[in-house]
Amino acid sequence: MNLHEFQGKEILNSFSVHVPYGIIASSPEEAVKAAKIIFEKTNKKSLVIKAQVHAGGRGKGGGIKVVQSLEEVYKKSKEILGNYLITPQTSKKGKLVHKVLISEDVYSSPSPYYIPKEYYLSIFLNRDLEKNVILYSKEGGMDIEYISKKYPNKIYIEEIDPSWGLHLFQARKIGFNLGIKNLSSFLISLYNAYLSCDATLLEINPLIYTFDNKIIAVDTKIIIDDNALFRQKKYANLRDREEEEPIEIEALEYRLNFLKLEGNVGCMVNGAGLAMATMDMIKSCGGYPANFLDIGGDADKKRVEKAFLLILKDPSVQVILINIFGGIVRCDTVADGIINSYHHIDHDIKIPVVVRLQGTNEEKAKKKLETSKLPIYSTYTLKEASDKIKEILSD
Ligand code: GDP
Ligand code: MN
Repeated sequence: MNLHEFQGKEILNSFSVHVPYGIIASSPEEAVKAAKIIFEKTNKKSLVIKAQVHAGGRGKGGGIKVVQSLEEVYKKSKEILGNYLITPQTSKKGKLVHKVLISEDVYSSPSPYYIPKEYYLSIFLNRDLEKNVILYSKEGGMDIEYISKKYPNKIYIEEIDPSWGLHLFQARKIGFNLGIKNLSSFLISLYNAYLSCDATLLEINPLIYTFDNKIIAVDTKIIIDDNALFRQKKYANLRDREEEEPIEIEALEYRLNFLKLEGNVGCMVNGAGLAMATMDMIKSCGGYPANFLDIGGDADKKRVEKAFLLILKDPSVQVILINIFGGIVRCDTVADGIINSYHHIDHDIKIPVVVRLQGTNEEKAKKKLETSKLPIYSTYTLKEASDKIKEILSD
């Protein structure tokens, strides 16, 4: 689950990680109100308006504005709010902005010649190493892909032993490599925040070191492990449904394991392992999976029907493959679910459907599908199914 910058900063703040003072606003009027408070509190001549969307590169897309007056706050936040923000990390359509963060300008200093240096720092779970790692660089501000391409030897990685946690000597080493004095306590707070909220990523980009020796997390991106939300109840409600694939949210409601992908072959499978194998098979047939969908081992008619509806919602699907191995779930139940879908959906299903049902009650299932007279290609084996998919895709 992705968090917005303002949500991430609230978490960091609660772990004593220094973040710029900010107030969230949903309208230009609220933005002005927030700006008044911030101007008064900080006594600075400028502040920053930051569009809150789940995408980086907002600076380049015009979603970050440094402004000097309340008039400007009103004008700029009106321009940003309710409009689509296009950044190098969004689609061409961009992302609709519902909120802006009105934030203290932490770059300002008494001297016009002082520009704080920007650093990069992130903590994330490295699944290959089976460890959390801290990745950091003196070249912050830009996105990390660019940094690693342009300055591959200016990126450092520190591995954290899960049984010891972050050692003080490691924190000191990171500070030394970055040339930042007294970074240790900042890093330890950051690592605590990362662990405590079950994050899989906590990225600070940029991190700055100010003229008065303050270390500040200027921007943050936090991803919380979905599988940990059951024990992270206070963070679970931070999910912004507007930012997520509507199909995936619907799937969640029916306890279907659904991930939207880019391809043209919709698939419905029981079991994650079989779903992975099915996706490989689709690729070897010259197709590309439109989704990952595991309906679970205990799927019933209703769930099959819902899964079917979800796949049909995706306009890029050209053919649907239903690949079920009947173990606990019975093939004839799945067949009933498929047939019901044809009767319950209010428009004709024009997309060809290839079904492979093998296992418990497979004959019964095949008979049901055949006597239904619906345009379904019913097969027993994976080979038959993949041949059929290939044939359909090459037409
Ligand atoms: P991103 O572009 O989505 O990653 O958004 P960031 O929050 O990282 O901001 C992008 C850039 O805006 C930073 O690299 C800074 O150059 C600038 N910026 C962000 N916060 C401030 C601020 O408080 N003051 C000033 N002057 N510039 C800022
Ligand atoms: Mn950033």
